[in-house]
Amino acid sequence: MDWVDLRSDTVTTPTAAMRAAMLDVPVGDDVYGEDPTVNALQQRLADELGFEAALFVPSGTQSNLLALMSHCERGDEYLVGMDAHTYKFEGGGAAVLGSIQPQPIVQDADGSLPLDRVAAAIKPVDPHFARTRLLALENTWHGRVLPMDYLEAAREFARERGLAFHLDGARLYNAAVAAGVPAREIARHFDSVSVCLSKGLGAPVGSVLVGSLALIDKARRWRKVTGGGWRQAGMLAAAGLHALDHHVARLADDHARAATLARQLDAVPGLRLLGQHTNMVFVEVPAERLRELDAHLRQAGIRISIGYLPTLRLVTHLDVDDAGIARTVEAFARFFGEQAA
Ligand SMILES: *Cc1c(COP(=O)(O)O)cnc(C)c1O
Repeated sequence: MDWVDLRSDTVTTPTAAMRAAMLDVPVGDDVYGEDPTVNALQQRLADELGFEAALFVPSGTQSNLLALMSHCERGDEYLVGMDAHTYKFEGGGAAVLGSIQPQPIVQDADGSLPLDRVAAAIKPVDPHFARTRLLALENTWHGRVLPMDYLEAAREFARERGLAFHLDGARLYNAAVAAGVPAREIARHFDSVSVCLSKGLGAPVGSVLVGSLALIDKARRWRKVTGGGWRQAGMLAAAGLHALDHHVARLADDHARAATLARQLDAVPGLRLLGQHTNMVFVEVPAERLRELDAHLRQAGIRISIGYLPTLRLVTHLDVDDAGIARTVEAFARFFGEQAA
């Protein structure tokens, strides 16, 4: 079956051109810093995002973890969104492995952490408290692009309060393409940024952490300690370089397809469109029909993450074309017994 897989943009498989680009590249032992293709990827992203250095790592989870462990020490605290990936979906790694206490902050609907709420959570300098050390944001957050003036204000706030400022930019390029700015315009506010190559950019594996030379030095050490020191990773880095060359501008196609999907699903009675942001569409369906809907969609060759919540997230990416969108709309319309407009 030729699946239309809308569960996540992590499900993309390398294109033929990407596979070809991976084959014939120079490689070396990256633990020794000797893989020329890894070094080229790191240099490329450091330059492009305006940082001194970069580190190629296996996953976004590790990239965020290394950032937190490099900025913070044992007994420090970081401020993070209550629904942020770094806090909620990374196994509590900063606490488990870094002895860094998270202080979750309830986010506004646009994904921003209201700065008065953040300020109220900063601990006094006193042995009773963990040392508040870092503020972490996520962009895009549930597909939403954080407002540029908010980034500016948060940067200023972090500077005033002496906090390091980290961005989980797993989908930084989606944010940049949607905002119509170079990724650097977003990244420049932060002390470190983690970018996933394996989401909408379509590489099979890998994330990159950018920061100062001193920060990336520490991160390289923690990468080794956490078992992420890899050897001839150049073929994976080549996929990342190919993605940066060929798959950034086309993220606009994913956003356009998500907009089409949202518009057409909105015309299907029986479900409720909650919103569309960059490459994500959110709909609500009757909770009692979730299992039945899941089976129906699978029958039609469509995969969506369906658990026990009536809110569904549909994600467009490199491997979803116009026909896939049409098939999805048609399947939803058939399920709810109406033709889509
Ligand atoms: C996917 C994702 C990560 C983690 O990336 P993995 O490579 O899956 O570990 C971090 N943050 C956000 C916002 C993500 O979507």
